[in-house]
Amino acid sequence: TSKVLESTELSGESGVERALRPQTLSEYEGQPRVREQLEIFLTAAKRRGEALDHVLLYGPPGLGKTTLAQIIAAEMGAAIRVTSGPIIEKPGDLAAILTQLQPNDVLFIDEIHRLSPLVEEILYPAMEDYMLDILVGEGSAAKSVQVPLPPFTLVGATTRAGALTAPLRDRFGITCRLEYYAADDLQKIVSRTAMLLNTMITDNGAYEIARRSRGTPRIANRLLRRVRDYAEAREDLPAGIHKETACRALSMLGVDGAGLDDADIRLLRAMEDFYKGGPVGIETLAAALSEDVATLEDAMEPFLLQQGFIQRTPRGRQLTDLGRAHLKTPH
Ligand code: ADP
Repeated sequence: TSKVLESTELSGESGVERALRPQTLSEYEGQPRVREQLEIFLTAAKRRGEALDHVLLYGPPGLGKTTLAQIIAAEMGAAIRVTSGPIIEKPGDLAAILTQLQPNDVLFIDEIHRLSPLVEEILYPAMEDYMLDILVGEGSAAKSVQVPLPPFTLVGATTRAGALTAPLRDRFGITCRLEYYAADDLQKIVSRTAMLLNTMITDNGAYEIARRSRGTPRIANRLLRRVRDYAEAREDLPAGIHKETACRALSMLGVDGAGLDDADIRLLRAMEDFYKGGPVGIETLAAALSEDVATLEDAMEPFLLQQGFIQRTPRGRQLTDLGRAHLKTPH
């Protein structure tokens, strides 16, 4: 079975989500630092007619890592192969993918921090020297064979750069950290998506969705689709999406004015009610909420930390005054 995902299988995304992906760097909103860096390195690589150096993209889910990998391939005029850390089980799986690459192709490995150590070792010489080191035969007859690979660009994505081994991290020439988006940038993304969905939206309506999307394009696009459902189902409301419609729909969805949803509020409330605001260990918290630690650490916590609702201390997570105040405001 192939360990390369079809583009339709990309992180289980729907056709809608795929259609919304920007195709070029100039269509990609926000992330000014990342965009500027990539523009320069892409231009230089293209001028030299070489593959772009390997790129590591890291940051919370839904910020546009997969989208950037596809843009890099498109800008290089190359194909992209998409796979992910957990689905490459054996070194042979990765070897099969590598030997099928064409010159300057992009190999995108999502969740690259989850590669097994044996698979990772195949990657080192492949990244450094475009060389595949494989063992042929078994026991005393086994010998190491080297197979040259075409020059290619590895784009690795991870939600935690800290979980990467040092030798792997060191082999990326370009490292980009994706940040949560400013509300203004998300507003542009929401407006663009609305246009692609043939939905009328006012600037205020788009801004309302944007500011409640926890700095994340994937969430902004999803909330927009739900708000559109609401606007279309309620015939008493004016056509299209206005601020008032957005507010009503979002509160129906349980998304509050700061973009926190029911799960976030449950987390803050558990910290306050069960642990007097903390500090409380992440495992304890995860168990109390029946969530897994990875979801808590990768998807929920970064935004709450960034917004200052909770903080990290050596003894665990702690609710801040801001977090406490937020629990007291009506949602
Ligand atoms: P990640 O790989 O980081 O989880 P994706 O690349 O899958 O995130 O992005 C999620 C969705 O958000 C995509 O459908 C894409 O359309 C949209 N998106 C992400 N970044 C941007 C951006 N900078 N501009 C416009 N849309 C974006």
